[in-house]
Amino acid sequence: MKADSFAVRTVPVLVPMPAERPYSYSVPAGMTVEPGSIVRVPLGPREVAGIVWDGPSDEVDARKLRPISEVFDCPPIDEAARRFVDWLAAYTLSPPGMVARMLLRAPAAFDPEPFIDGLTLTANRPDRMTAARARALELAADGLAWTRSGLAHAAGVSLTVIDGLSAQGVFEPVRIPPRPVVAAPDPDFAQPELTAEQAAAADVLRDAAAGSYSVALLDGVTGSGKTEVYFEAVAAALRKGRQVLILLPEIALTQAFLDRFQNRFGAKPAEWHSDVPPRMREKVWRQVAEGRVRVVAGARSALFLPFKELGLVVVDEEHDPAYKQEDRVFYNARDMAVVRARIGGFPVVLSSATPSIESRVNSEQGRYTRVALTARFADAELPKLGAIDMRRAPPARGGFLSPVLLGHMRENLGRGEQSLLFLNRRGYAPLTLCRSCGHRFQCDDCSSWLVEHRFRSQLVCHHCGHAERRPEACPECGTFDHLVACGPGVERIAEEVVNHFPDARTIVLSSDILGGVRRLRLELEAIAKGEADIVIGTQLVAKGHNFPNMTLVGVVDADLGLANGDPRAAERTFQLLSQVTGRAGRTGKKSIGLLQTYQPDHPVMRAIVSGDSESFYEKEIAEREMARLPPFGRLAGIIVSAQTRAEAEAHARGLRRAAPEARDIHVLGPAEAPLALIAGRHRFRLLVQGERRSDIQSYVRAMLANGPKLRGSVRVQADIDPQSFL
Ligand code: ADP
Ligand code: ZN
Repeated sequence: MKADSFAVRTVPVLVPMPAERPYSYSVPAGMTVEPGSIVRVPLGPREVAGIVWDGPSDEVDARKLRPISEVFDCPPIDEAARRFVDWLAAYTLSPPGMVARMLLRAPAAFDPEPFIDGLTLTANRPDRMTAARARALELAADGLAWTRSGLAHAAGVSLTVIDGLSAQGVFEPVRIPPRPVVAAPDPDFAQPELTAEQAAAADVLRDAAAGSYSVALLDGVTGSGKTEVYFEAVAAALRKGRQVLILLPEIALTQAFLDRFQNRFGAKPAEWHSDVPPRMREKVWRQVAEGRVRVVAGARSALFLPFKELGLVVVDEEHDPAYKQEDRVFYNARDMAVVRARIGGFPVVLSSATPSIESRVNSEQGRYTRVALTARFADAELPKLGAIDMRRAPPARGGFLSPVLLGHMRENLGRGEQSLLFLNRRGYAPLTLCRSCGHRFQCDDCSSWLVEHRFRSQLVCHHCGHAERRPEACPECGTFDHLVACGPGVERIAEEVVNHFPDARTIVLSSDILGGVRRLRLELEAIAKGEADIVIGTQLVAKGHNFPNMTLVGVVDADLGLANGDPRAAERTFQLLSQVTGRAGRTGKKSIGLLQTYQPDHPVMRAIVSGDSESFYEKEIAEREMARLPPFGRLAGIIVSAQTRAEAEAHARGLRRAAPEARDIHVLGPAEAPLALIAGRHRFRLLVQGERRSDIQSYVRAMLANGPKLRGSVRVQADIDPQSFL
């Protein structure tokens, strides 16, 4: 045996599994890897893609040590991205392997995109000239590379003509690099004329974008031009030669955003979200890694793209709950964008008309720089807001729209202007019951009522997706035709609207629309073009759209979000209703927003109606501080689920007993979760509450380590900084 066979080089490799640490692999002779290299490694009976990690690797018995199979021809994952994975894993109590998995979502992109076979003109001339040959030669005379079929097509000749010229050496084969998914953005393509206030804000952001880590909170009323302003920060980062990421909560629906970007920069950004087709996702991933894509507009998962020169992240609508992922790795992309920027040493811009309490406090305490825009662009007035007291102006029997709101809608129709009714409830009715025996239709696998969807004539569970036909007779007592719908969903409001305004053009928009995202986009465009008079929609109409002729927004049930025991209920309601009413009057026409409420004196209603958001923030911040709720204290949720209630409860109690003694942290619960059953799994929750500076992660980690062993069907999920308490 040769001596050097003992000196096997081993490296740690992070594999996309629930692995707590990288595994050791040997590097075969002649192979070069570095930290960040993407490699193929054997794992049990399979092979997976993993990332060569840093630091020493575990001692592994030489006989068990397996070699790396292949290094992909792919730029390595850079140091900042690797530290981000480590940080996020530790913070969210997730296995680093599962975080790495989010980085490795486009397996086909680890191999380079193939070059395309092309042709280019040589100095040779053909033996004899024909009209067809002349046309092909003339086109190719620019010296650029053509594909065989592209040239034939452009010259209007058959492929045989091209092949004949190639055979004579008039064309020679060349390899054309893969096409970029988007053209390069030009920071100086079309600079807008900013208002004085916008220009001042842009100056601050531009300076920040030219520097190292900083966080700016761009806080401006709807329609004040926040997008125009942060585009200046994007331009500054591009001039510095850095890549830019713009996070948007509903990117799949914001076609208008892409157009605005193109108008400013002369090219579209690359898109990254779940509706981008797989082949395109692979190209984007690869070209981001190669630095060929300079700007990505994406959903939260875009944070895990392999940028090599990331130099700015913008988080648009930073308060939006859609930034929280609650699946496997629970993280908030807004907060993680700030972490990514700190690790990468570059600036981040958070933008919102209704910032989160967390970001407001951070700016008041000087950790973030607040940049305010107080006026709408082009003197567009903010909508006049009012509450409709439903106790005094109740709807007709069986209806949900008060005469006051209907009256405004009628006037709007008369003027040829659009109205939007907002109700954050899909379907026809949230509850169906039998008038004869009182039977309520409930999901067998979830603790929730089945929601009637009348367009599809189905009863649907919004938690597990279970759907059944709406029966004619009650399954309990057998009585026919005695089922009644209780409460409204958007479909039911649409029915009421059609009864009142049979000639109006009415559109219902909710995320479960038949035809999916494509159809939604078309409908949104149609609305913007004025092809509807009355729009009835769920929260997806609240976000970012510009409907020039929309002058009335009616909130059907403004109280809906307030009654759910969520510590952020007031904040969320304030944000959502401000966003919704902000859809009105964006192009200068007089506009109004009306909130139907049974609690017109509730502080949230008062704050929205008076337009005095400052005092709302002040009060809400004071209450959070009193209650030691985030950001003045820390929270972590622990969700225990199992196939039986007893198992889930016993495990949750065991975790509680394993909670360490601590001065600054305590545990609430376990309690049965408000959603006690989801998809057949019984759920219990614990809530860990700590002082602002407490080490809540170590505390929860100790609970999990000292608690009962995971047995049977029990699953435990930690949720640091929870947004949902259901
Ligand atoms: P916000 O993001 O604050 O709601 P937007 O950036 O969407 O506001 O701007 C609202 C509207 O005003 C958009 O149609 C935008 O194109 C227009 N706008 C804002 N600022 C300017 C400007 N300086 N020049 C031209 N149009 C502008
Ligand atoms: Zn269900």
